[in-house]
Amino acid sequence: LGRHRDDHRQSGFTYNGVEFSQSNLNIFAGLCAVDVPEHVELMMQALEDNGEVCTRMGAYKPRTNPYSFQGHGKGCLPWVFEKAGRHGIKVIAMEITHESHIEEIDTCLEKLGRPTGVMLQVGTRNTQNFELLKAIGRQKTYPVLLKRGFGITLNESLNAAEYLASEGNANVIFCLRGMKTEAGQPHRNMVDFAHVPAVKRLTRMPVCVDPSHSVGSRDRAPDGILDVMHATSQGVIAGANMVLVDFHPKPEKALVDGPQALLMDELPAYLEDIRLCHDTW
Ligand code: PEP
Repeated sequence: LGRHRDDHRQSGFTYNGVEFSQSNLNIFAGLCAVDVPEHVELMMQALEDNGEVCTRMGAYKPRTNPYSFQGHGKGCLPWVFEKAGRHGIKVIAMEITHESHIEEIDTCLEKLGRPTGVMLQVGTRNTQNFELLKAIGRQKTYPVLLKRGFGITLNESLNAAEYLASEGNANVIFCLRGMKTEAGQPHRNMVDFAHVPAVKRLTRMPVCVDPSHSVGSRDRAPDGILDVMHATSQGVIAGANMVLVDFHPKPEKALVDGPQALLMDELPAYLEDIRLCHDTW
């Protein structure tokens, strides 16, 4: 996936009718973790109302604390996929934490007649889980969203992408999601979206930004604008090709990362602001 001086190969790919490249932009607003059918329904209805065809839905959640909610796993897949199909969702970004999850997703989609598509997400805690990367790389049905490792160098994370490509799957999007630092800070992670153009220069991968996991809260700047929106703008103006962002109809009831989820009635303005930033390209 690395780009060389004389490399003019086309970047990007099309999956389930949606184009991913270094020159367009796709927005994946959705639930960090699937909880109850009512919330998934409200989220997907809001996306359909706003003309969006992609979302994020976490079924398998890698948690720091073993006693925290670990996600509904394969049990929620049938109704999540069925709702996605009904609301015209073409691609769901869904993190997997074990290679067996690929088959669980595939079997369920096949059984339902493939009402939607899935982009397999590798989380920041698994960026260097080489056996998982190799297993995901061996299958070519699903594209991959690879998160940057939060405590390793950029080069090491880019090498992780090569693990996917070297096994045969080059349909990879690279996601910046903030870095851990020692310094006390207002945000959960140090926002690293200035690296968008660097990754585009160094590789042929479309680049995603995740403002929710970077900022980690619904705090607002003195001008009233959400920090998540400011971070999103930075990423989009820097040339991001995808935005992965947490929304929730009732953040206080969310089972994972509620404090960083934006509210459903903030979705139209959020999408509009992204479009304005994108127009500055
Ligand atoms: C997520 O996107 O749900 C997530 C857990 O992100 P990260 O791996 O970046 O922490």
